[in-house]
Amino acid sequence: MDMDKICKRVIKHYGVINQLNKACEEINELKNEIDVPSDKQNKQRIVDEIADVSIMVYQIILITENIIRDFDINEDGIDTRVDFKLSRLERRMDGLE
Ligand SMILES: [Mg+2]
Repeated sequence: MDMDKICKRVIKHYGVINQLNKACEEINELKNEIDVPSDKQNKQRIVDEIADVSIMVYQIILITENIIRDFDINEDGIDTRVDFKLSRLERRMDGLE
């Protein structure tokens, strides 16, 4: 599936504000699925909610990329920040931070 093409169409069709609200809804749905004792969790529902949140995170990235570009903000990209945070996690686990 062409995630980029479909998500851009969704944002154009429903609008930025609606999709940001939808992202909050989907994140909350995932939170509700995982925020129960492990023996009460429904694995298929968790997988479905992770899929929903993945689609919404992609849309958030598309939306915020436009905002950053429109305001000509010079920020590190998401990939750079992910690398930094993963390295920090490793340093912490290794007792170096
Ligand atoms: Mg959902």
